[in-house]
Amino acid sequence: MLNVKHLTFSYAKTPVLKDLSFKVQQGEHLAVIGESGSGKSTLLKVLYGEYDVNFGNIYWKDTEILGPKHNLVIGYDFMKYVAQEFDLMPFTSVEENIGKFLSNFFPKEKKERTAELLEVVELTAFSKTKVKTLSGGQKQRVALARALAKQPEIILLDEPFSHIDNFKKQTLRRNVFKYLKSKNITCIVATHDKNDILGFADNIIVLNNNQIEAYDTPEALYKTPKTPLIASFFDEFNVIDNQIVYAHQLKVVEASDLKATIITSYFKGNFYLVEADLNGEKVFFESLILLQKNQNIYLKIEL
Ligand code: ADP
Ligand code: MG
Repeated sequence: MLNVKHLTFSYAKTPVLKDLSFKVQQGEHLAVIGESGSGKSTLLKVLYGEYDVNFGNIYWKDTEILGPKHNLVIGYDFMKYVAQEFDLMPFTSVEENIGKFLSNFFPKEKKERTAELLEVVELTAFSKTKVKTLSGGQKQRVALARALAKQPEIILLDEPFSHIDNFKKQTLRRNVFKYLKSKNITCIVATHDKNDILGFADNIIVLNNNQIEAYDTPEALYKTPKTPLIASFFDEFNVIDNQIVYAHQLKVVEASDLKATIITSYFKGNFYLVEADLNGEKVFFESLILLQKNQNIYLKIEL
């Protein structure tokens, strides 16, 4: 188990992380979300031991994670970290990058393990390709596979799919998270993409104003978002009478007290996201049919 107690960290005077406490069980998948600059990457780096904390403690099981003041070499064998800016060996092949930390004394095992990981990140066809010729997304997949090579007990992933195109993203996410679960590897994923979380994460930490604004399951946070920030992470939403209402919870009805005028509609595939004016305020709702600009409609909240 990872146990973070009263963690406070600052680069300069003002803390970026203020008094964070949380636990992550073995095999658990924890997502860390928050706006850009909220400290997601900093948290992962501190957990990895890249910086010394100002206050508090971090434990993995009985080992205290300590920073560079205490360790000549940053990091621990049981933990891997894939940074937002991945750091690969550009002039060697994909296969060699992945196998970099695997012993040459076990050539058969090394080969099997590399092949297994190439499959997880769907780069089997590129095993002999030099990393420098790969795209950003492919490099990110190599970095992921390399971090998994030695099977850490815990892995820290910083926006792990941010460079990967939509064609590959869905499958890759499923492959990677399924793999981590099957090996009971604890993972902490910093992300601003709800798709990295829904269906995968066990728990979510929301970082805001240097603190943990919320900690709960994805389902609980989605269903009852305590703040607009949390709602905005999941979907388009409105605040009507101090109540957070997702766009899909606002329905067009024959008549109601909520009379709105259509401003514009956005094609979203199986629905239109409609922007309308409700008593001088903008509201968003979903409609299966295309509604005309300036048309008047009535809305009803259905939670
Ligand atoms: P996120 O990953 O959520 O976008 P970061 O952890 O990168 O946020 O940044 C949190 C805050 O810390 C930001 O205000 C950022 O400018 C600052 N920061 C990040 N890295 C450094 C650094 N190496 N030195 C000083 N300040 C930093
Ligand atoms: Mg970041």
